[in-house]
Amino acid sequence: LTGLLEIEHLWTPAGWLSPAFVAIGPDGGVVRVEPVRFREAGAATVERVAGYALPGMPNLHSHAFQRGLAGLAERAAPGGDTFWTWRETMYRFVARLAPEDVEAIAAQLYVEMLRAGYTAVAEFHYLHHDPDGRPYAPPTRMADHVLAAARRAGIGITILPALYAAGGFGGAPPEAGQRRFATDAPALLRLVEALRQTARGDPAARVGAAPHSLRAAPPAALADLLAGLERLDATAPIHVHVAEQRREVEECLAARGTPPVAWLLDHAPVDSRWCLVHATHVGREEIAGIARSGAVAGLCPTTEANLGDGVGPAAALFAAGAAIGIGSDSHVSVSVVEELRWLEYAQRLTGGRRTVLAGRAGGSVGERLWAAALEGGTRAVARPVGAVAPGRRADVVVLDPGHPVLAERAREQVLDAFVFAGDSTCVRDVMVGGRWVVRDRRHPDEGPILDAYRRTLRRLA
Ligand SMILES: [Zn+2]
Repeated sequence: LTGLLEIEHLWTPAGWLSPAFVAIGPDGGVVRVEPVRFREAGAATVERVAGYALPGMPNLHSHAFQRGLAGLAERAAPGGDTFWTWRETMYRFVARLAPEDVEAIAAQLYVEMLRAGYTAVAEFHYLHHDPDGRPYAPPTRMADHVLAAARRAGIGITILPALYAAGGFGGAPPEAGQRRFATDAPALLRLVEALRQTARGDPAARVGAAPHSLRAAPPAALADLLAGLERLDATAPIHVHVAEQRREVEECLAARGTPPVAWLLDHAPVDSRWCLVHATHVGREEIAGIARSGAVAGLCPTTEANLGDGVGPAAALFAAGAAIGIGSDSHVSVSVVEELRWLEYAQRLTGGRRTVLAGRAGGSVGERLWAAALEGGTRAVARPVGAVAPGRRADVVVLDPGHPVLAERAREQVLDAFVFAGDSTCVRDVMVGGRWVVRDRRHPDEGPILDAYRRTLRRLA
């Protein structure tokens, strides 16, 4: 046993425990949780944690380097500005990034994630090669720098190397702006295998794979990837961008005769290992199919708003019993509460009703959103997180009871106040894998990490 916490208030989806005694093992996992101090803790010093503790939130969709681009695509493009013009801006930014730049940006991003209450991240990693499109030596070099950033910040990471085998639904090879992403299935599987060696024995890291999208993963390449992954790790998480944009749905219909989610459900063994990122433009049958499959719908409300993707069908997904989770994707915002709040607000704005995702009369929207995003996010990162409970990682976010937004609230009102009226300044302390990585809103390495981030942006400007 390495630690015993006496937490003033601990939230679980079944209600609050006040107090909660949490024993943490030497590997950073929770060993035991009880409402009273228990014996085998013995003489171990008890650390008192004042305030409201929540299980840390998984961020199920991230492209870390895009944080360096946040706010730089907000001037009107000539001839109209869409997801596709934003993508050109992103390609120009990508063209200049070195692995060291990506590490500097990712480390800064991950510190910000921790301070916002995210304790795990699924990194959808498609920037593989040098600016000329040649693999680095070793080919994992870019991914190694992303993993190093996560280690330095202290966030749990699930890395998902992305297959990018075609430039569009026609199956043409990736275009010039995509040459740093271009991979075939055998090369990607070698990358996955090498990263699995790196991550072996590290409880803070996991490796999966990501067919980038149906437009970038033609059927044969997708089948090769899935067959190879099955041999490497039959439980590995699989993430895919799907039905983000109407144009993508139309192109899929034209090329394959069905919309993207329907095509996937019909042609791939979609199950609880899968995370369908965005799943924005989907029909009733597709939503029912997602729920039946056990796949997680990966919703990224602030990015989807920023890119003009459309409103994800959160209410219909909840009603169908589908798993959902949240991601900050392009990182135009790095805020757990903003993702959760906009999940609900978009439903209010389009439906003309309030408390849409509460689930039942008297239900708390904040609590239901936190619980749902924990459950789906945990499935998507495929690591034992998402609850302060035996067998899970000790990932804990502590809200400051002295924050004005939480002042004089009953504990049953805390999550609603945090999600709808609060922001990341409510988060005081953050623990990942039994280790405090944020204390009193400060990360011990935040100064040098920010300096390196500034130097990188200056060089890229
Ligand atoms: Zn994405």
